[in-house]
Amino acid sequence: MSKPDTVAPSHFLRTIVRDDLESGKYAKIATRFPPEPNGYLHVGHAKSICLNFGLADEFGGTCNLRFDDTNPEKESEEYVRSIKEDVNWLGFQWDGDVRFSSNYFDELHAYAIELINKGLAYVCELNAEEMREYRGTLKQPGKNSPYRDRSVEENLDLFNRMTAGEFDEGTKVLRAKIDMSAPNINLRDPVMYRIRKVSHHQTGDKWCVYPSYDFTHGQSDALEGITHSICTLEFEDHKPLYNWFIENLDVPAQPIQYEFSRLNINYTVMSKRKLAQLVESNIVNGWDDPRMPTISGLRRRGYTPASLRNFCEMIGVTRSDSMVDVGMLEYAIRDDLDKNAARAMAVLDPLKVTISNFPEGEVEMLTAAGHPNRDDMAERQIPFTKTVYIDRADFREEANKKYKRLVTGGEVRLRYGYCVRADEVIKDENGEIVELICSYDPDTLGKKPEGRKIRGVIHWVSATHGEQAEVRVYDRLFNVEQPDREEGGYEAHINPESLVVKQAYIEPGLKLANNEERFQFEREGYFVADRHDHSAEKPVFNKVIGLRDSWAKIEGA
Ligand code: ATP
Ligand code: MG
Repeated sequence: MSKPDTVAPSHFLRTIVRDDLESGKYAKIATRFPPEPNGYLHVGHAKSICLNFGLADEFGGTCNLRFDDTNPEKESEEYVRSIKEDVNWLGFQWDGDVRFSSNYFDELHAYAIELINKGLAYVCELNAEEMREYRGTLKQPGKNSPYRDRSVEENLDLFNRMTAGEFDEGTKVLRAKIDMSAPNINLRDPVMYRIRKVSHHQTGDKWCVYPSYDFTHGQSDALEGITHSICTLEFEDHKPLYNWFIENLDVPAQPIQYEFSRLNINYTVMSKRKLAQLVESNIVNGWDDPRMPTISGLRRRGYTPASLRNFCEMIGVTRSDSMVDVGMLEYAIRDDLDKNAARAMAVLDPLKVTISNFPEGEVEMLTAAGHPNRDDMAERQIPFTKTVYIDRADFREEANKKYKRLVTGGEVRLRYGYCVRADEVIKDENGEIVELICSYDPDTLGKKPEGRKIRGVIHWVSATHGEQAEVRVYDRLFNVEQPDREEGGYEAHINPESLVVKQAYIEPGLKLANNEERFQFEREGYFVADRHDHSAEKPVFNKVIGLRDSWAKIEGA
């Protein structure tokens, strides 16, 4: 893919905010990021986080983190914890304490009573099926519930008794009294409160009635003094309802809702429900599996916060639905790591090489650059010894001139070291190559051999001084562009090569890498010391991304 512009174009929400501040409509803006704690955040949420926190930072406003926690059965503390961690990791800090919609359950309950008193809400006893029937369809108006014209007193009494736990789940709900023939179905007397006898991760057993998301969201924004209530396009149809509640209630502020289009990325699925299924069916190893598009998965994969923030700038903010090429996300991390990751050598598929004319037991320290263009990254010393490993793919018994690696009788340079010639191939009884016998030219360190051409430069690791490491080579989880649009469902399109575990050899210093430290393994790609499993005793590296966009090449071929 082509290189995106480095200066991101501005977007309509930035323009709206700037205009609102310049016109004096607001002295200060207030935004919020309102996740439901029913799963781990994904890269789509990162777009919303960067937008909300980013606007607040850019224009000197505030951004709250509010958990919209109206669905206690599906929510948990674990999700609350992971979401806070992800927001911080992306580089953002919410204003004041974390907030919960459940902090406002008292206020919301009082708002419900306010609407009952105004004759704008009623307790309804239709069951779920009858409700659906009465609601009508897009083409047909609904009809009024037989309970719609109860007196204020009766509604107050029933709602109080619902709240006190006198009735069974599903027997009664509180509904807004708006218009059963409204073209917008959201306005056809939507449910405000349901009876649910479950405990809540924040409020425990205090409540057995819970407000609906639609009754909670707008008032929570109002209570927090949110000025720009930013959400994704699917809530556009809910806006008239949110406004109806705000207009009919005595709330402290009038937030204005603005919608933008969700992020969709090809070769992945992006909904908490589907991601939860991948976890539950053990297709991946947990929410932070490095193949997951979750923020914690991308983190474990080796993405940096800056790369995700840059990606979110690159994709922009619009109101039209589109599919972003996953190559753009990969570009963002490759670009960051190219500039910032220290270089190192690791052999993923080791083939033993014995240098016949190098003295047994001798160790010669060679100097290697930390990074080709970064003086601030220290040089490193790497041991050269009589036996080394090279990658199996870097040797062929015979090959034409296009093969820029080692062949029998040919010569290559060992990166940062000497030129070696392959003299002899040793095979096992099955004909598998198990070792190469090479000779080195002591007069080629840092200079070209006289009068002969070498084929290329390959990477290597000392067999006696290098360390073994587990290297987890990750690739895209799905092998089709739109996994959830395919026949057989997305489960049928898992890339069987999405994780290949290798026993590799790494240069000696690498085992001391910090968890989450990132490297370019020369000629192989970018790798990160696994956040959880890596240790000096048992080094574990994850492949972040290859050096080049190999998928585009294959597809284009
Ligand atoms: P999902 O459908 O994946 O479960 P959601 O919209 O239900 O996501 P919420 O926790 O309700 O998840 O979302 C919190 C905020 O993140 C909302 O404002 C929502 O609009 C936004 N958001 C969710 N998914 C995306 C996405 N793909 N792109 C941009 N913003 C998103
Ligand atoms: Mg949701």
